[in-house]
Amino acid sequence: MIKSAINSEAALQKDRQYLWHNITPYNEAAPPMIAESGQGAWITDIHGKRYMDGMSGLWCVNVGYGRKELAEAAYEQMMQLPYFPLTQSHMPAIRLAEKLNEWLGDEYVIFFSNSGSEANEAAFKMVRQYHQQTGQHYRHKFISRYRGYHGSSLGALSATGQAQRKYKYEPLTSGFLHVAPPDSYRRPAGQSVEEFNLQCAQVIEDTIIWEGAETVGAVIMEPVITGGGIIVPEPIYLERVQEICKRHGVLLIIDEVICGFGRSGQKFGHHNFGIKPDIVTMAKGLTSGYLPLSATAVRKDIYEAFKDPEDEYSHFRHVNTFGGNPAACALALRNLQIIEEEQLIDRARVLGQRLRDALQTLVDHPLVGDIRSFGLLAGVELVADKATKQPASLDIVKSIIAGCKQHGLIIGKNGDTVAGFNNVLTFAPPLVCTDEDMEFLITTFLKVMGEH
Ligand code: PLP
Repeated sequence: MIKSAINSEAALQKDRQYLWHNITPYNEAAPPMIAESGQGAWITDIHGKRYMDGMSGLWCVNVGYGRKELAEAAYEQMMQLPYFPLTQSHMPAIRLAEKLNEWLGDEYVIFFSNSGSEANEAAFKMVRQYHQQTGQHYRHKFISRYRGYHGSSLGALSATGQAQRKYKYEPLTSGFLHVAPPDSYRRPAGQSVEEFNLQCAQVIEDTIIWEGAETVGAVIMEPVITGGGIIVPEPIYLERVQEICKRHGVLLIIDEVICGFGRSGQKFGHHNFGIKPDIVTMAKGLTSGYLPLSATAVRKDIYEAFKDPEDEYSHFRHVNTFGGNPAACALALRNLQIIEEEQLIDRARVLGQRLRDALQTLVDHPLVGDIRSFGLLAGVELVADKATKQPASLDIVKSIIAGCKQHGLIIGKNGDTVAGFNNVLTFAPPLVCTDEDMEFLITTFLKVMGEH
């Protein structure tokens, strides 16, 4: 016991000295949790304390921790062929590209990278080049939504609609425009949810027209805004956006980095809305976070435009040394197989319904403004005043998250959206949660809410 206390203090000391954390500011009073092992929906830290991971890491460990099958798939592939570039080819990438086509349910060609940001960067370059290849030389602009997150690299951050993520990194890349998301909770008084959603879609069309449709390359959006606060559109919204894009020759990129791979209760989030995107980007749940891998899936006929024998620059001149690493592809294939064999997409729907029902019991809690969910994703928007919808303070949001952590439950909150609006608690537990895990999540959260 004494030895482990000394070791953990030493680990924290070295962490402080050598490690630069993602996004989290350094805080002496609340040192980072140093995780040591994981099993199912649970992780154990270096003190031996167990936590249920209600956020699946960063929304990615869909099949849960400790999956020996995944380690074996990667190990076997590493022993056979650990690396080969996709300037040429290898079987795990071919097999995975075929499998992703089957999951997407349409004809796509797959380009592999390592992260969600890179998948989106590849998509942006493909869009610009595609329009050049097809003689539409002015089409270079992208439209995305405020509150949406698309990654941390300069292009992906430019597409991101979260002001606080951009401070001190601007100016970013030009040619990225933003419109309001269909945040129905904050719609104008007197407007129906459907009218509001249609109006939000109409703003996209108006922006295309005002910018000059011949200058707009693509619209990029998540099916449901996730990290920006679980903002779920009406189905008519996405249908209308697709219609608008088609009408104006603008490509539609759907970012499935979080919504993909069962999280939404379907294989991909956009399958819930009956749309057929031109480009689909994906990462996180593709390997359940076990190894880095992402993909940009492009409709076959768009890909065909990159094959002009008369033009020596018609092919996609983009290289990614590690993208589509054979071990990551082999692991991803096994991961998809697990999701199928264990029927985790159905399970996501069942667990999501259980979570939704439980959260609904908070409807009269003075801090709860809105409760939103989609598949096995949920968000609780906290307010200081239910009538005015004034967002709750960050201190309250943090206090609830800390209370849950104290009781062994990790939950999240929306990203650095805009000052004053980081007030949505988020839930994205692994798809492999047992009934007991879900009960633990629910009872712990309700208990902590009861203390606030
Ligand atoms: N797109 C969405 C919707 C995301 O949530 C994220 C990351 O959270 C990204 C893209 C970027 O992915 P990565 O962090 O792997 O670059």
